[in-house]
Amino acid sequence: MTVSFISSLPRLRGFVLKASALVFVLSLAGALRAAERPNILLIFTDDHASHSISAYGSQVNKTPNLDRIANEGMLFENCFCTNSICGPSRAVILTGKHSHLNGFLQNGNKFDCGQQVFPKLLQQVGYQTAVIGKWHLGHGGKSDPQGFDYWEILQGQGPYYNPPMFKNGKLVKHTGYTTDIITDLALDWLKEGRDQDKPFMLMFQHKAPHRNWQPSPKHLTMYDDVTIPEPDNLFDDYEGRGSAAKQQDMTIAKTMTAFDLKLTPPRNLTPEQLATWNAAYEPKNDEFRKANLQGKDLVRWKYQRYMKDYLRCVASVDDNIGRVLDWLDESGLAKNTVVIYSSDQGFYLGDHGWFDKRFMYEESFRMPLMVRWPGRIKAGSKCEALTSNLDFGETFLDIAGVDIPADMQGVSLTPLFGNPAAKDWRDSLYYHYYEFYGDRRAAHMVRRHYGVRTDRYKLIHFYNLDEWELYDLEKDPREMKSVYADPEYAGVVKKLTSEVKRLQKQYQVPDDAGSVPKDPPSLKPGFRPAQNKKKKA
Ligand code: CA
Repeated sequence: MTVSFISSLPRLRGFVLKASALVFVLSLAGALRAAERPNILLIFTDDHASHSISAYGSQVNKTPNLDRIANEGMLFENCFCTNSICGPSRAVILTGKHSHLNGFLQNGNKFDCGQQVFPKLLQQVGYQTAVIGKWHLGHGGKSDPQGFDYWEILQGQGPYYNPPMFKNGKLVKHTGYTTDIITDLALDWLKEGRDQDKPFMLMFQHKAPHRNWQPSPKHLTMYDDVTIPEPDNLFDDYEGRGSAAKQQDMTIAKTMTAFDLKLTPPRNLTPEQLATWNAAYEPKNDEFRKANLQGKDLVRWKYQRYMKDYLRCVASVDDNIGRVLDWLDESGLAKNTVVIYSSDQGFYLGDHGWFDKRFMYEESFRMPLMVRWPGRIKAGSKCEALTSNLDFGETFLDIAGVDIPADMQGVSLTPLFGNPAAKDWRDSLYYHYYEFYGDRRAAHMVRRHYGVRTDRYKLIHFYNLDEWELYDLEKDPREMKSVYADPEYAGVVKKLTSEVKRLQKQYQVPDDAGSVPKDPPSLKPGFRPAQNKKKKA
């Protein structure tokens, strides 16, 4: 599918080039050219939902170091991804192009880093560039990072402990906790690895808090004495929504494995790590086995186990970000370094009874985004404008004073830094999720869909099901009932249907509906996706 789909792209690219040239983009490029170029530090995590960051009002944890970035900079309240899955989000950031143009539609694709990516453009104006940590765009040949003076990346998804990494292409083995190791490597590069006479752009990218949420030895018993509050829709019955919400395979109740729930330990620990791990989990697991929980009590236990492990992984990220922010202060670099925090997408923290992402519903569509730039962004400011990972690459280029190529599809966020309530801003965002092939690779069984979100409404089309959903986010922020068929919303439906078509034209989205069978074999009774063949807890 991908081959024929992408083969039509050169024709589309020409069109996009012309269309984008007409778009007026406020740019700092001219103003910055003569000034000292700032350093750029992107701190990026995997699957970190903004409702587990205290700056975003988390009810479940505290993140004092992440909050520093918001308190000393700007918190973006409405940042959303274009395609809520790991690799595609990263490809969108590198290229500033939607998935159908950058060629990375779904995990398992191989990214072609030979194409235009923003780090190459930063190098051309003298930046030292590096990516350290999770890459997740494939490796070897064209998929290895290009445009980076230094790279050390996890092999594929990467483990939480003892990660093998590719250092400028060569396999290196590390022993220890991955979040700590990635931070050590980032600090090593910042302190000694780079050319100190040049500005830097570092992509400091954690695996955490991606499934299956293995905490560091320091945090194995954190939260043991507390009960994490449950979301009000933990026991969602999916009434009021279409088939897709009912067909998914990502519930805490049914999808989580014994491995996810730490009823079996990780397989790659050293004897010492395993002893520490078992000392923390075995007493808790014994208690669980004795209790013989059933029904909702069992789901509640799984939710607590899942959330505590997820939040323990977040705690390691937060501690390590504190180390880096402290070092920026001590080194004197903080004042001329733009620090950006984000994650490739959000995540369900028991919302709708789920974990994982993929859907255009708020919790996984939303990305955290906080930016600190001393002297340019007012401390403690907030921005409600609709922003996207499609804008990140353009923003980095603009910060560096580099002209934004006309074929990039997002816009620089720098105008919002000084004026968060800017009037001339976009009114809607386009979304498109692809990772449903209709065969065994379709992890979590989330059907393909596209949609549009405005400040108040969201229209979603599950096109291979021919089902539409509409949410009034002001009246129904938890998206519990689609109002698509409600006559009161007929005007909104009409307007948003036209808007989503306009965006598809603007972004030159090909029709891929025929590339996945309408009734794929994966929906036959008894089918289980490949990754979920492990014993269920
Ligand atoms: Ca992810």
